[in-house]
Amino acid sequence: MSLPTDPIPPAWGALISRQLPLVARLSTQDQDRLYHRMQLFFREVPIEGCGGLRLTEEIRLTIGAQACLLLLRMPYPRYTRVRRVLVYPSSFVPKPQALPASGEIVSPDEPLEGQAWQSGTVILGWDAVKRATRVATDGENVVLHEFAHMLDVEDGSLDGIPVLDSGSAYRAWAALLSLKFAEHTARVAKGEATILDPYGAEDRAEFFAVATEAYFETPVALRKDQPDLYALLLDFYKIDPATLVQPTRGHGAV
Ligand SMILES: [Zn+2]
Repeated sequence: MSLPTDPIPPAWGALISRQLPLVARLSTQDQDRLYHRMQLFFREVPIEGCGGLRLTEEIRLTIGAQACLLLLRMPYPRYTRVRRVLVYPSSFVPKPQALPASGEIVSPDEPLEGQAWQSGTVILGWDAVKRATRVATDGENVVLHEFAHMLDVEDGSLDGIPVLDSGSAYRAWAALLSLKFAEHTARVAKGEATILDPYGAEDRAEFFAVATEAYFETPVALRKDQPDLYALLLDFYKIDPATLVQPTRGHGAV
């Protein structure tokens, strides 16, 4: 299996770079690779507008680019369990029969910004996607979060342990994940400020998802605060976002 070699639509580069500053700072080679992975993604995964949302090229590209950023340097195929993406205009209320398998324990009537099902459906609220895209440095990004769950669940279990490169990597991953999760849970319980979203204290799957958000959105801060976790994620994603962020101007690298 190989990546598509179709010509990249000329409008993609400017549109995606305007939406996603991190993509704008990738090398030309990586950008091309990202676009070809997006072509493959769009070919395999239908994206549907729901609740009256009319799907536009901006919506497709914003979601597709961030979903594919996660696996830019990974061997493919990935996202083997993703079957479809449903996009609502804003927060949505999951149907009672739609059992979330992503660790999100929610009452049926609580509106959500995103949800990932083990059966392969990713649901996103476009408002939340736009907000996350506009503010790319607050450590919160619903697209990265839900697609991190889909990487996690590729091996059949949503446990914070995705498919890794080698058998020997699993023991190290599980050990560090447990340690970092325990530290995070303890800090959240004490009410301490944390680099990672406190929601990561829910379980190991949520911890991996919020760690992924921080890795791409606040990489310098994460690397400084938790270099071991940063190194683990670098080994997995093989992109080093801390080297791609713009130099801070007087704000300090926090
Ligand atoms: Zn989650």
